[in-house]
Amino acid sequence: MKVLVIGNGGREHALAWKLLQSDQIEQVVCVPGNGGTATMPGCKNLPLAVDDFAGISEYAVNNDIPLVIVGPEVPLAQGITDYLQNQGLMVFGPNKEGAQIEASKAWAKALMAEAGVPTAKSAVFTEAVPAKAYIQSAGAPIVIKADGLAAGKGVTVAETIAQAEAAIEAIFQGQFGSAGSSVVIEECLVGQEVSILALTDGLTIRPLLPAQDHKRVGEGDTGDNTGGMGAYAPAPIATPQLMARVQTEVLERTIHALQARGIDYRGILYAGLMISPDGDFRVLEFNCRFGDPETQVILPMLETPLEDLILACIEQRLGNMPPIAWKQGAAATVVAASGGYPGEYIKGKVITGFAAAQTVGATVFHAGTRLNAVQEVVTDGGRVLNVTGLGEDFQAALAQAYAGIKSIQFDEMYYRRDIGYRVLG
Ligand code: AMP
Repeated sequence: MKVLVIGNGGREHALAWKLLQSDQIEQVVCVPGNGGTATMPGCKNLPLAVDDFAGISEYAVNNDIPLVIVGPEVPLAQGITDYLQNQGLMVFGPNKEGAQIEASKAWAKALMAEAGVPTAKSAVFTEAVPAKAYIQSAGAPIVIKADGLAAGKGVTVAETIAQAEAAIEAIFQGQFGSAGSSVVIEECLVGQEVSILALTDGLTIRPLLPAQDHKRVGEGDTGDNTGGMGAYAPAPIATPQLMARVQTEVLERTIHALQARGIDYRGILYAGLMISPDGDFRVLEFNCRFGDPETQVILPMLETPLEDLILACIEQRLGNMPPIAWKQGAAATVVAASGGYPGEYIKGKVITGFAAAQTVGATVFHAGTRLNAVQEVVTDGGRVLNVTGLGEDFQAALAQAYAGIKSIQFDEMYYRRDIGYRVLG
């Protein structure tokens, strides 16, 4: 079978890589893909925009590609699943209505309230004056969120009332366009974050390995927020007891609430949790797709063929599948970023050392890379590469990831030296 993967990040390279490990997968076409998917045997790039639904559909139909896996949230929120299904294709990812669980934080909060999912106390506003009055009465710290998709930049954890008010002003003045037509103001939670990605066919929901990300650019979790500077799985903070609670109190309740709204949600449901110091938890957000960089540590641990799970979700037979099989041990990934990221940075730097990274056993998933005119791999984004290591424990996995990243060079390359500090003890 051939598969089309939509997106161009490390997540999509990892999806293509995992699919191509199966004898059942003949070819993966990435739209638009990156330097890694362009050069991986069995994979090729198709230079179309992710919102060119007609172009994607035409290519898939004309080239006998029955299955489309959607990486990013934006095309899901725009209804790519509905469009491609109408053309007779199988699509992994929820329809437009279901994707609102990520595309509107207010929608997700209302669903959580309906379902009885534990989450932070919150209120929704469409105007600045009552929003500011609420902040005055609630006090700081407090969290301000633009309702819609803002590429991960729509959330301010405000330490003071003045910061909270400035965030409200910025959102209503259009900093995030229509994503900021309303705001969610939320109680500030403290603790450790963990990502629980689950597969669902709309009836059954099964979690993947829990993962932890490192969002801040600097060591010791300092500096600006990023798309993620590293990750590991399985996150020990998500104990079997916690996972059992998440299954009943979050995943199953959410699927039932979606069903009650008549939404047939098939794909990934990703719950971002905050675990408090006393071990209780709240849902911070839902995403409607695979996480990045979590996917770059979850998929290398997966033993079950990915396409079997994906087809079971699409064909609504996940409940008949045997338990998902995982490798023993742990996986860790370290992100190599362009110097300056998440601020300004220069693209187009030549990257070398891929073969050396391979000799230490690391797997390099490309993110912001492309091939230049002479077929060299060059930087093309802020987060450039994810170097993943596997091992019998976190120490071994991190050692392999760091040995791999040290083999790679590009001008002004930056990476955090402390990924996994929480699990190294
Ligand atoms: P979200 O997109 O809602 O997950 O928010 C992005 C990030 O903001 C999260 O990963 C947290 O680091 C932080 N955040 C969101 N909501 C809260 C909250 N209620 N309390 C503390 N931090 C939060």
